[in-house]
Amino acid sequence: MAEKICILGSTGSIGTQALESCSHLGIEVTAICAGSRIDILEQQIRKHTPKVCAVADERKALELKARVADTSTKIISGAVCSQEICDMTDCDTVLNAITGIAGLLPTVSAIKAKKNIAIANKETLVAAGDIVNELIKENGVIMLPVDSEHCAVHQCIDGRNKDEISKLIITASGGSMFGKTRKELEGVKLADALTHPNWSMGKKITIDSSTLVNKGLELIEAIRLFGIPEDRIDVLVHRESIVHSMASFVDGSVMAQMAVPDMRLCIQYALTYPEKKQGLTAPLNLAKLGKLSFYDVDNEAFPSVELARRAVRMGGVMPAVFNGANEACVDLFLNEKIRFTDIFDYLEYALNTFRPRAEKLTIDSVLEADSEARGLIYELASQKDK
Ligand code: NDP
Ligand code: MG
Repeated sequence: MAEKICILGSTGSIGTQALESCSHLGIEVTAICAGSRIDILEQQIRKHTPKVCAVADERKALELKARVADTSTKIISGAVCSQEICDMTDCDTVLNAITGIAGLLPTVSAIKAKKNIAIANKETLVAAGDIVNELIKENGVIMLPVDSEHCAVHQCIDGRNKDEISKLIITASGGSMFGKTRKELEGVKLADALTHPNWSMGKKITIDSSTLVNKGLELIEAIRLFGIPEDRIDVLVHRESIVHSMASFVDGSVMAQMAVPDMRLCIQYALTYPEKKQGLTAPLNLAKLGKLSFYDVDNEAFPSVELARRAVRMGGVMPAVFNGANEACVDLFLNEKIRFTDIFDYLEYALNTFRPRAEKLTIDSVLEADSEARGLIYELASQKDK
């Protein structure tokens, strides 16, 4: 169980819930890190008294430093502060809840500093999972998933041999656009895509949930975390978000993990594993729910999971291309520069157009592919704008 923790992305949806869970569990928060929201950081410093706080935005960091001059928290800032902080305090665990590829280098730093990792930042595993897995082995640390589906799978297969597992079944709420046809999706407005039926999350993952790209990312995340190949991972729509994922076994049995949708359960699991402790999550009342529903994914209207599968089969840096292109698409959609359905077309374009340069999969080749994939998307959007 974690005793001292560093939380990256502490001002976000996962980060704030992680702080709540740490207070509940009595885990000492030795370091926090975020991009720019210093009002929240100031409150967190006063409440949790971390030794160090990293702020990526240097101007905001200066302002925060002045505001918390009466505390003993050291403020650091700059482009690499989220990497430095992993090495600066005596925590045993780093919880990475930064959004996007910006979480990759901090994860690498944390592993090299021999910290156990609680990983919410799925983009790291999608883009560079094989490299991260190697580093974990080399440094003898443990990585546990925070993502609810992977937390569920982990619970279902814990202690099992891989050859006993026939399939992983990742559930998907279907997001805010469930049931819409491709034609109907063309007119989707930003505000509609930002409303999730069951979870309250950061903007990027909320858009990813509405396009089902999140499920594509999670499929790749599951391959990296559990070593199960793509063709043995199914995606199943489950509207109520009660069954968080399942594993089927060679004897025909299926194990499912159920709970009310509450990320604090998953955060706590990653921090207390292998123990289970009294948590903050309300008990599940199945009789009150009455029924649970399941559907196949509509791959025609939402091609995202199929595109993710294609990226995996292409191998090398292509999952990083899929992820980088998607981050650019989400940015453009959030700024109302492209339509909802453009996201699917643009992702397909990125996979069709990208030509990998480097032979070897390294952190540098991953970051280069990420940046080139973004470039392709921004260029395409600007051509269409003319
Ligand atoms: P949010 O947008 O709510 O929070 C993101 C956090 O990352 C903020 O604290 C933000 O700081 C910080 N951040 C962003 N860029 C940087 C940077 N360059 N350096 C340092 N900090 C940075 O996202 P979520 O909490 O929703 O998601 C976080 C991760 O967890 C994502 O990878 C997501 O896919 C995953 N996840 C989230 C779930 C959820 O329920 N929210 C469920 C499962 C997975 P600031 O805002 O101050 O700029
Ligand atoms: Mg998830």
